[in-house]
Amino acid sequence: MCMKGAHVMIGCFGHKRQIEIDIHREIKGGLSSTTLTSSSFSLSSSSSSTSSFRVPPLSTSSYSFYSTLNNNGKYYSLSQFPYPSGNLHMGHVRVYTMSDCVARLKRMQGYDVVHPMGWDAFGLPAENAAIEKNVSPSKWTNSNIDEMRRQFKLLDLEFDWNRELSTCDPSYYRWTQEIFLRLYRAGLATRKIAIVNWDPVDNTVLANEQVDATGRSWRSNAIVERREMKQWYFHITKYADRLADDLQKLDGWPDEVKNMQREWIGRSHGYLLDFKYNQTNGDAATLTAFTTRPETIYGVTFLSVHGKHPVMELVRKQMSREELVKLDDFIQRCSTLKDEDPIIAFDTKTTVTSPYGSTVRLVVSSAVHADYGTGCVMGVPAHNTVDHQVATELGLPHLYVLPRPAGIEESVVCYDQLDQSSLLQNSGQFNGMRVDKAIESMVDSNQIKKHTSYRIRDWLLSRQRYWGTPIPIIHCNSCGEVPVPSDQLPVVLPTDISFTGKGSLLNSLDDWKNCKCPKCGGNAQRETDTMDTFVDSSWYYFRFLDSHNQKEIFKKEIANRLMPVDIYVGGIEHAILHLLYSRFITKFLKDDGLIDHEEPFKVLLIQGLVKAKTYRDAITNKPLHPSSVNFDKSQPINASNGNPVNITIEKMSKSKLNGMEPSEMISQYGSDILKLYILFKAPPEKSLEWDTEGIEGCRKWLKRVETLVKSFVDEYSANKQSFIGEFGKVEGVKPLRYETHSTIDNVTQSIEKYTFNTGIAFLMTLSNTLAKVEPSQRNSLEFYESVRTLVILLATFAPNTAQDYWKMLCEHGPSYTSHASGDSAIFEVRRQGWPQPSRECLEQRVKQLVIMTNGKTRAVVDVSTDDQTELEQIAKKHLGSRLDGQTIMKTFFATTKTNNFTINLLLTFNILDRYDKGIKTSVYTSEAVVCIVKVGGESTQSVTSLPILTKWIWFTNLCSHKTKNQSCCFQEERGWRQE
Ligand SMILES: [Zn+2]
Repeated sequence: MCMKGAHVMIGCFGHKRQIEIDIHREIKGGLSSTTLTSSSFSLSSSSSSTSSFRVPPLSTSSYSFYSTLNNNGKYYSLSQFPYPSGNLHMGHVRVYTMSDCVARLKRMQGYDVVHPMGWDAFGLPAENAAIEKNVSPSKWTNSNIDEMRRQFKLLDLEFDWNRELSTCDPSYYRWTQEIFLRLYRAGLATRKIAIVNWDPVDNTVLANEQVDATGRSWRSNAIVERREMKQWYFHITKYADRLADDLQKLDGWPDEVKNMQREWIGRSHGYLLDFKYNQTNGDAATLTAFTTRPETIYGVTFLSVHGKHPVMELVRKQMSREELVKLDDFIQRCSTLKDEDPIIAFDTKTTVTSPYGSTVRLVVSSAVHADYGTGCVMGVPAHNTVDHQVATELGLPHLYVLPRPAGIEESVVCYDQLDQSSLLQNSGQFNGMRVDKAIESMVDSNQIKKHTSYRIRDWLLSRQRYWGTPIPIIHCNSCGEVPVPSDQLPVVLPTDISFTGKGSLLNSLDDWKNCKCPKCGGNAQRETDTMDTFVDSSWYYFRFLDSHNQKEIFKKEIANRLMPVDIYVGGIEHAILHLLYSRFITKFLKDDGLIDHEEPFKVLLIQGLVKAKTYRDAITNKPLHPSSVNFDKSQPINASNGNPVNITIEKMSKSKLNGMEPSEMISQYGSDILKLYILFKAPPEKSLEWDTEGIEGCRKWLKRVETLVKSFVDEYSANKQSFIGEFGKVEGVKPLRYETHSTIDNVTQSIEKYTFNTGIAFLMTLSNTLAKVEPSQRNSLEFYESVRTLVILLATFAPNTAQDYWKMLCEHGPSYTSHASGDSAIFEVRRQGWPQPSRECLEQRVKQLVIMTNGKTRAVVDVSTDDQTELEQIAKKHLGSRLDGQTIMKTFFATTKTNNFTINLLLTFNILDRYDKGIKTSVYTSEAVVCIVKVGGESTQSVTSLPILTKWIWFTNLCSHKTKNQSCCFQEERGWRQE
C-alpha cells in the first residue's frame, strides 16, 4: 500500500520473472571482495524455485553443539505491501528488513514460514500518469513493479516470490469482486444517496477517513467539497461493536493504535430526547438529541443543530431576507473551519420545547456535524465549557442543576467534576434526586430512550475513476440492480482507451457500459464506479496463502492453518483506514463461513520514520543537497551564495534533498551492511536518524568478524593436530561456553521481541569477547563452537556475509556435524537449524565479583562466597598497589541475578530489559556479585538502585572499551552518565 511519500505501479502474474541473476553478489562492495566472490551460493535463486517456501533444517542427530527446534508450526511474517511507485526508498528498506529478519529466524527454527510480497497496484497515480504521459495505467504499473522487484532483489530479502500477487491483475480482482458480491448478498453492500466528500482535483469521492482534520484530501491535498450523490457503501457500522470489543483481544498491538481505532469507532452509550418545534403557522418538527447526561435537562438553555438540519427549512420561512443572508454567511464560514478553530454559533431567535416543557433557544453551531450523531446537541452552559462559551457569546442564561463540589471555583461545573451521587437542584420533579435515580425515572416514563451512538460511518467505496476494481453490478431497467453471476467474473477493466482526466472514464465507454441483464436478457448498463483501493488491500493477506487458486478465494483449510498473521509490520498512517477495514473484512469472511479466524493480525509492529540531516539555506529556506554545502568553515555555508545553512533532522524525502538511495547504499556497502545498519541503528518503533558513521561502524564490525573467522581457519589449517575436539579439555574457556549459550538465548529473544538492535549488540559483545581469547585457547572446541555460533546467529541480520563466513568454516575448519555426509545443504548457513542454548550452560550458576574503582572495572573474578567481608578482602587483593596511599571511602555491594557470565552481558541484558516493556523472562537464574570499591578523596558516586548501578557499570565499561558500534546503539543512554 502506499506509504506516504512514495507512489505507484502494477504487476501481473502473467509473465514470471524467474531467471534471477545473482546481481547482488557482484555489486556488493564494502567487505573484502576476496571472501565475497569466493561464494557461489545464491539465496535468491533457491528461494524462487521453492514452491512452498520452507527451509527444512538439517537433521539434528549429528549435532554435537546444541539442539535445534524442529517443530513444524507455521509463522506468517508480513509487511504492508507497497504501492508500486517504481522506486524503493529507505522507509521500504526498513519495514521489509524487519519482517525479513523475523522470517529468517523462524525458517531456521524449522517453522513453515510465509513471507510474501505483492503489489497494492490500483490507484490514482497510474491514472494520472496515463493522463500526463499517455501511457496505459497497466503498462506503467507493470513496469514500475518490474523495477521495484529488481530493487527488492538487490536488497536480497527472502520473500516467497511464488506467492506474488498484484491487486490490479484480473486473477486477483476477480476475488475482490467476489467479496463484494458476498457482502452484497449479506445486505452489507448497498447504494444510497448521501452527501459525500468530493475531491475536485482527483474528480472522485473520498471516504471520511480520507479527509484530514483540515478538510483536505489525504492524497491530492485539495479542499474537499460536499456533494449529494448515489454511492456504494459497505455497512461497517453493523460491525462497530465487534470492532470495538475485540480490540481488547489484540494484546500484540500498540495501545496507540488501539486507542485510535477506539476513538474512530467512537462508541458512546447515552440517551435520546425529543425536542418539539411548533409554530403558530402550523409548522412542526421533532428534533432528537443524543446525550450522555440526560439528568441536566433542566440546565439546557439552547439546542444546537447544523446548518442543513431539516428543521432549518421551517426556520428559514420565519426569517427576514437580511437574517437569511447572515445565516448563509454563517453556514459558509462553518464549512471553512478547521477542527482546531473555536466553535462559532448563530442564534435563530426561535425556540423549541424540551420534553419537560422548558423553552430553549434554537442555535446553529459549527460544533454539530450533519453526518455525526443526530445532528442535534443539547447546550448546558452551566456544566460544559464549550456550551458556556456559546451561551456567553449569545447572551443565553446559565442554569446550575448540579451542586458545585467543594473547592471548585470555576464558573462552569464540568460533568467530570461530579459523581453519580450528586443531588439535582433547580430541576422540577427531579429536585433532590440522585443523578442515577433521575435517569432511571426518565427512562421509566419513556421521556428518554437508551441509545448507543457511534462516530464511525459506513465505508464509502465508490470511486468515479478508471484504475480500480470494477463493481460487479448491472443496472437493468426492469430488474433493477443485478449482481454479476460468479461464473461471469471477473468484470474486466477495458483496455485500449484514451484518458482525458475529465469525469468518469468508464461511464463514457458505451461499448463497455452497455450489456445484457443476466436475469432477463434485456438491455442494461454496468456499474461504472470502481472500488476504493482500500477494498483491494483489506484482504490481500488471505490471498497470499493460496495465490494461484483459480476456483476459490482461498482454501479454507490453508487459511485456517496459516492465519492469523503472526507479525504485521507497517506505518502508523494505516492505523485506522487499512487496519480497521481489514479487521472488518476478516470478521465478515468468518461470518460468511470462509475462515474460522476473527482477527487478522496477531502482533502489529509500527515502524518509525527514517530521518536524515536536512540542509537549508538560512535566508531562502530552500533545501540544499549536501554537496552544495561548504563545511570547511566553522559554520556551514551555502557554497553557491555564501548564505549560512541551517541543519535539521527531518524525514527522508526527495523534496528535502536529504534522501539516501537504497540502490546507491547497496552498491557502496552491499545489502547486508545496509540491512544490518538499519536494524541496529534504532529500535523498530523509533525514528532512525541516518548517519554515515553508523553504517561505516557496521561495515567495520563485519570486517572484524571476518578477521576472527579467517584467523581461526588459518590457524586450524596450519596446525590441525593441535585442535582439541572435546569440551572441557582446555584451561579457562568454560566462561566462553556460557557466554556463547547465553548469547544464543539473548539473540533469539531479541528477534522474537523485535528488538533487533539489541540482538545485534549481543553478537557484537560476543565477537569482542572472542577477539580477546588467548591464542593458547583458540585451539579449543569451545572457541570453535563460539565462532560458528556467531556466524549462524549472524545469518538473520547479514545473511550473505554469514554465508561467506560459514563457507570458510565448512571448507577450512574442523569437520563437525555432518560435513562429511555429502549433503550440500551443510554449506548453507540458513539450513543450519537455529541453535537452542544448552540448559546446562544457562543454568550454570556462576558467581562473579566485579571489582570497580571510581566507575572503572579493574577485575572480574570467579568467587565462591557471598560473604561481604571476604569479598572485600578478595577485591583488595586484586586491586593491590592501586590502593597504596589511598583511603577507601565507601564500599558498595550489589547482587543481581543473571545467567550471563561476564559483566558486559549482565549489563546489556539490563538494557534489553528496558526495551522489553515490562515482560520479564524466567531463564535468568544465575548470580553475579558486584562490588564497587571507592578509592581516594574523589566524590562518591551515589548509586542507590540496582538497575541504575548496572546501567552505570555497563556504561563505564563500554566507555573503557570505546566500542563505537555499541555506543551508537545505546546512544540515548548517554544522558544518564555522571562521570
Ligand atoms: Zn433485467
